[in-house]
Amino acid sequence: MANRDYYQILGVTSDVTEQDLKKAWQKKARELHPDRNQDPAAADKMKEVNEAYQVLSDRKKRAEYDYQLQHGGTAGGSPDFGSMRDVFNDHLGNIFGDLFGGGRTSRSGSHSQRGSDLKYNLSLNLEDAVFGSSTTIKIPGLGRCQICNGLGTRKGTTTTTCPTCEGAGQVYLQHGPFSIQQTCPDCQGQGRTIPYPCPSCFGQGQVRETRTLSVRIPAGVDDGDRIRVTGEGEAGVRGGQAGDLYVQIQLKPHELFKRKGRDLYCEVPIFYSTAVLGGSVKVPTLGGEVNIKVPRGTQSGTILRIPSKGIPGTRGSRAGDLFCALVVETSVHLSSHQEELLLSYENSLNLASSKYYPRYHSWFEKMHRFFTRQSSESS
Ligand SMILES: [Zn+2]
Ligand SMILES: [Zn+2]
Repeated sequence: MANRDYYQILGVTSDVTEQDLKKAWQKKARELHPDRNQDPAAADKMKEVNEAYQVLSDRKKRAEYDYQLQHGGTAGGSPDFGSMRDVFNDHLGNIFGDLFGGGRTSRSGSHSQRGSDLKYNLSLNLEDAVFGSSTTIKIPGLGRCQICNGLGTRKGTTTTTCPTCEGAGQVYLQHGPFSIQQTCPDCQGQGRTIPYPCPSCFGQGQVRETRTLSVRIPAGVDDGDRIRVTGEGEAGVRGGQAGDLYVQIQLKPHELFKRKGRDLYCEVPIFYSTAVLGGSVKVPTLGGEVNIKVPRGTQSGTILRIPSKGIPGTRGSRAGDLFCALVVETSVHLSSHQEELLLSYENSLNLASSKYYPRYHSWFEKMHRFFTRQSSESS
């Protein structure tokens, strides 16, 4: 139990939808059905598959399982029973199967249960991540029943000692030579039962609800950061403490900037005339527009560094830089008159001289040498 991956058993990924999960389970169940599958191991596999589906098809158990999976813990049940189950798996799997279907029993005897932790993926734009923001998020989940205040009992009634286990939370079964301790099926190990359940939550102490929560995002968060909001997870059962909410930050791609650590990168298109003559262009920064100087004779692809205009520094770290790649944009849709002007301008440059286009000339010479070598080798 402890180290088995339920998702793997059902052949699905951990983001599987409830519908696809059911399909995967039905498919496995058909494959492993004793009428079709003669493999002696099929029955055990079927047990595994059912166990996995039982947990993953229950939203609450699945959330709990996911959480424990992420935190390296065991998945539901108590570790002691997990190891026992492995020993007796062959003969007694069915009995223990019931045991594990009975919900979380790791703290048998304790009356209340802490609510599950929840994870919420929050997409943020760069500015909100850098400067901090407030946002409202809607969280579907289980909340404390307001009618019974989470106790599960009808108004004016109380819980009573479980008659099946007489409050012990455990029952004993005789199975061949073994006496097996099992969590009481009537009270799920709680030792107490609810004779008059709350009509609103049917004794669960929890109801399905969508909560709206205001969350403050601190300045300086980055992609993958997690913010813990204490007590905003699912409500506890029977007066138990609420779980925590983890808000996972995902940065949306930005229209203008790419981010690398604290530095920002952006591409700035410039006119041919600006590149030739030099001038000034406006570039964006997180703090607003700034003017930068484009040197005379700037080549396309030149990168200019603007110090301290990247991500602002927080808690002692220095601010990042902004890198602007200047890209000369070729003009399009010229009229015939404009084409003439361009050609007459181009013709005015003496192309035999390396003065106007030094890069073209040096490249042309390299190409010429390359072909001269080739023809002398082949002859
Ligand atoms: Zn209730
Ligand atoms: Zn009981």
